[in-house]
Amino acid sequence: MVTIEEALRIIEDQKIELKSESKPLEEALGFALAAHTAAPFDVPEFDNSAMDGYALCGLYQQYQLVGEVAAGDSKDIALQEGEAVRIFTGAKVPQNTTAVMMQEKTSMKERTLFLDEMPKAGQNVREKGGQLKEGQAVFAKGHMLNPPSLALMGSLGLSTLEVFSKPRVNIITTGNELVKPGNPKTKGQIYESNSYAIAGALQQFGFQHHQKIQLQDDFEATKAGIKTALESCDVLIISGGISVGDYDFVKQSLEENGVNELFYKVFQKPGKPLYFGRKQNQFVFALPGNPASSLTCFYVYVLPLLQKLSGYSKTGLPTYQFPIKHAFENRFGRPSFLKAAVIDGKVAILDGQGSSMIQSMAQGNALAFVEDGEVLKKGDLMKCKLIS
Ligand code: AMP
Ligand code: MG
Repeated sequence: MVTIEEALRIIEDQKIELKSESKPLEEALGFALAAHTAAPFDVPEFDNSAMDGYALCGLYQQYQLVGEVAAGDSKDIALQEGEAVRIFTGAKVPQNTTAVMMQEKTSMKERTLFLDEMPKAGQNVREKGGQLKEGQAVFAKGHMLNPPSLALMGSLGLSTLEVFSKPRVNIITTGNELVKPGNPKTKGQIYESNSYAIAGALQQFGFQHHQKIQLQDDFEATKAGIKTALESCDVLIISGGISVGDYDFVKQSLEENGVNELFYKVFQKPGKPLYFGRKQNQFVFALPGNPASSLTCFYVYVLPLLQKLSGYSKTGLPTYQFPIKHAFENRFGRPSFLKAAVIDGKVAILDGQGSSMIQSMAQGNALAFVEDGEVLKKGDLMKCKLIS
């Protein structure tokens, strides 16, 4: 048995070799950059207008209108003192522009422009290099590309990015009692649900599963199923069959498939019988079958590994601190990840903390952490991971 910190450290300390590939910008969301990026030119590349209005030369309240520049125009106008041009947002400002006045604060009589107020030097002009200077570092290697990052890369004219490849993931569910939703079931059977949570959580964080395999609780079937799954993945996520019951064959089957155990059992609730192993460059998580346990273990342990294998410089869900809405005492006898709801900056611990209870997890949006035996007063801060 290891502690939560030890388990996370073991995952973090795995030595891995990252692969990279070229991705078109439109497919690069959620990938981590495989190289440092520097700005190939100043951004913006030229002084331009932040407003629809008038570019002015000198600081007066009255100007002679001499022309117009729209966004995308490349004409090179040089203003003389007391002259103005009509200008639009994003358009290159003429040479000798002192300021831009927004059109709402102007009026026009014939070719004379009147301002409602005195302009200020530099007003409404976006300066060349105001965001980035040529050669300036933009992103370090390992930066995960979010939508604004894609916009920034696009604005640098980059259409293809060198990113780290993501791991291929297979999912195995185990259990004689499990029936695929949509099919009839008999008494004693239940519908298989963990694979939907795991596949959904994978998708939520930009991963995909390649294969999903359902296995019966039988040693030979489990051994063969694991062998097949390991033929086509970098990470295998198994649900169920990892406890100490007579029908739990996963651990032995992993051993027989040459997977080396890195830890088994974590001092936590839920998810004590969590297993993590490695076979060369392949990793295996065997998650306890109880639905809340398996999904909690996914968020806390599987996600950081997937992100590490994707070259992310930051891994795992960030932890935030929120004041608890009510007093709470951890009597579970283990450090616990509690199903919780964070609303308006406060965290409430939900009813239904049992490992099998997914209903409370589905209603909530967070996992709140509490130490073994910890006694919290209303308003005390709790560490929370937001899961949706
Ligand atoms: P196990 O870890 O295999 O002992 O399973 C623990 C509990 O989780 C049992 O009540 C199982 O029926 C349930 N369970 C296991 N796998 C699944 C699954 N894929 N979907 C829903 N419940 C499951
Ligand atoms: Mg089982």
